[in-house]
Amino acid sequence: MIIDCHGHYTTSPPQHEAWRMQQIAALRDGAAPPPRPVIGDDEIRESIESGQLRIQRERGTDVTIFSPRAAGMGHHLATAAANAVWSAECNDLVHRVCQLYPRNFVGVCQLPQAPGVGPENCIAELRRCVAELGFIGCNLNPDPSGGHWSGLPLTDRSWYPLYEAMVELDVPAMIHVSSSCNPNFHATGAHYINGDTSAFMQLLSGDLFADFPTLKFVIPHGGGAVPYHWGRYRGLAQDMRRPLLSEYLLNNVFFDTCVYHQPGADLLAKVIPAKNILFASETIGAVQGIDPETGHYYDDTRRYIDAIEWLSDAERQLIFEGNARAVYGRLSTQLERQRSDKGVTR
Ligand SMILES: [Zn+2]
Repeated sequence: MIIDCHGHYTTSPPQHEAWRMQQIAALRDGAAPPPRPVIGDDEIRESIESGQLRIQRERGTDVTIFSPRAAGMGHHLATAAANAVWSAECNDLVHRVCQLYPRNFVGVCQLPQAPGVGPENCIAELRRCVAELGFIGCNLNPDPSGGHWSGLPLTDRSWYPLYEAMVELDVPAMIHVSSSCNPNFHATGAHYINGDTSAFMQLLSGDLFADFPTLKFVIPHGGGAVPYHWGRYRGLAQDMRRPLLSEYLLNNVFFDTCVYHQPGADLLAKVIPAKNILFASETIGAVQGIDPETGHYYDDTRRYIDAIEWLSDAERQLIFEGNARAVYGRLSTQLERQRSDKGVTR
């Protein structure tokens, strides 16, 4: 089985995100929030069958761990209360995708973070999504200010209540920023990669996993700049008198394969142990074109993993399937539940 651990519902029916814009405008104008949008099953089917499901079939992957559009989270655009309504709306929509296509999609939730608000405000929505919607993880924004980095690092104790809930529920987080409010940082070209790299360095600087030995984070987009600069991070850890990164972080931190060219995928697999790499494509996402050098889509990441000849069969199986099942502790049971005739049930 090939499990893609990183997909967002970027093709949701237009009234979904239009509602968010109306909600933000109403908040700004002190008006009542707009009525929730009506979205039919047929509209969801059309958006998925012409989009993510078509790509799964064309590329021969089986399951996508699916979450709301990351740039759409916009934690910095509204209040925590408004973000809670928006998150629930987004998560419910992803749940409907998983109900309509229970063999192909398993849900991961958006959290109602907001700048200056402690992450414990996210616990209720996380619990609802796991217990009631069958979700298996969450996307955690390390910078809900959208580019100002005005909050505290991920190792700060203010994050601990959320981590305690994650550990109790056995769900990992993909560390994922949202859109950028700062034109110096292009969202997917700079802010995302900055977020991935900064989060890793925060984890290296603190000692979070001494307190949470079973907490797991997936750092997407190939780990940002981290694998390319692995010597720098190993050296920094050494200077800071930390243990070896293999012992210090690699029981808890994992990287996905959203690196959109062969040399990048080769480097990732060479530098980072296979047990720490999860297959992902982030389709339909940041880069949607065809690479003129290869004639294939940049984000057709399965090709790159298939082409690494020196990976053993066991290593390839870990990257494509085994690691996702290990990191997302609820995945196997949820998948079995969804793939049985019962569908997604409480
Ligand atoms: Zn993403």
